[in-house]
Amino acid sequence: MIVDTAKGIYINGQWIHPGSNTVLEVLNPATREKITEIPTGGVSETKQAIQAANQAFPEWSDKTARERSAYLYKAYNLMLERKEKLASILTEEQGKPLNEARGEIEFAASFLLWYAEEASRVYGEIIPSSKKNKRLWVVPKPVGVVAAITPWNFPAAMVTRKVAPALAAGCTVVLKPAEQTPLSAIEIVKIFEEAGLPQGVLNLLIGEPDQIGKEIMDSSDIKVLTFTGSTEVGKHLMEAGAKTVKKMSLELGGHAPLLVFEDADLDLAVDQAIASKYRNSGQTCICTNRIYVHSSVEEPFIEKLKAKVEALQIGMGSDENVEVGPLINGEGLAKVESQVHDAVSKGAEVKTGGKQWKGSGGYFYEPTVLANVTNDMTIMSQETFGPVVPVLTFDHEEEAIEAANNTDYGLAAFLFTKDLDNAITVMEKLDYGIIGINDVFPGTAEAPFGGIKESGLGREGGHEGIKEFIEMKYVSIAVA
Ligand code: ADP
Repeated sequence: MIVDTAKGIYINGQWIHPGSNTVLEVLNPATREKITEIPTGGVSETKQAIQAANQAFPEWSDKTARERSAYLYKAYNLMLERKEKLASILTEEQGKPLNEARGEIEFAASFLLWYAEEASRVYGEIIPSSKKNKRLWVVPKPVGVVAAITPWNFPAAMVTRKVAPALAAGCTVVLKPAEQTPLSAIEIVKIFEEAGLPQGVLNLLIGEPDQIGKEIMDSSDIKVLTFTGSTEVGKHLMEAGAKTVKKMSLELGGHAPLLVFEDADLDLAVDQAIASKYRNSGQTCICTNRIYVHSSVEEPFIEKLKAKVEALQIGMGSDENVEVGPLINGEGLAKVESQVHDAVSKGAEVKTGGKQWKGSGGYFYEPTVLANVTNDMTIMSQETFGPVVPVLTFDHEEEAIEAANNTDYGLAAFLFTKDLDNAITVMEKLDYGIIGINDVFPGTAEAPFGGIKESGLGREGGHEGIKEFIEMKYVSIAVA
């Protein structure tokens, strides 16, 4: 891969050489080999980035929405032109199969397009007053400097899903991508640079998360935190943000149930369960974490599932025919292994998979299906983030709904049925921010994505997504 290692930290329109000599090693999870190393920044670079974003804010927020859109349209076109290159960088640093990486680049670009359009649709309000001599207005205003902290599972799409609406709203941004996957973020910042984004409007920090995170959270110049990552880190940041009362948009963990009713199209349910569970090797926050099948269709469902899972091609994402790539790192692999070990020790049966795959020397785990699963197993309460799925059964709808809701998470839930009444009743009773009915791919730029309960706060995408970066200024006018 051709990587420009001089480019890592970007502050005030310049690629910066940090003062320290520390570097971040970027590894290919499919081989455990080093791809490159990037110089890292710390407290001083974070302060500089915040200052640059703060200085750029008045001019950027003063532009018309159409002026801001123009940069996003340019970035959108550049991203699509570079799809192949961006996809191959993404696969190399993150591991997902090339086809999924291409899909992610298109998805990432779709947020640039959507928010280029939405920039012009941030409306205020005129409120009919209860007093004759009063005029009441509500005027939307960009909140200020935004800190965007992004995860490694969607190294491109999570960046644009946050940066595009923030810029469209008139905010300036300090971006800190995950340490496992900084290369995609660097490429996206290069795109904005080429699109001519004014200096200081978007700044990029690469470095130690705790150090950068603390500086960001302590800064009174940062008005909004938009974060996607683990519930644990999200809670820590929420607490840290209390000191300066930051606005928060948090997209945290999930534990998605997938319900298969007795009238469901079983082939569809199996195909979609596989797509939901094994894409990105199970490393998405809306990946199915548990399947509940009506007991009358358990046997055929498991047989079909097992056969198709066994046919999945595991390997390096850069091989065009591969369908399941590696996990991100040793920690991810160890978590999956420990969940399977725990389940088996408590009586679960491994229908297929259940061990590491050593093919190319990376962090691979075989696509796995577990049966005879009980609620005391860790996999039933802890997010798996790996290619393992437990299959459980139910006899009555109420039982399935209760089991599905029995979690602190509330991001996404899926259900398969052909009965419209059933679909609507169950959908209404599921305590989740996102419901997929015969559909495991709800994510799209025009719709609001986000969770309830401990899965987070706020929404990304749709017209809701830009509101995270807007304050409403209320104006009361007394007329003589
Ligand atoms: P995961 O466990 O999936 O790696 P994390 O929540 O640890 O998810 O990481 C998501 C993002 O949060 C990454 O960009 C990571 O660097 C960042 N992060 C982790 N810890 C902190 C912290 N203390 N302060 C700020 N950012 C952090």
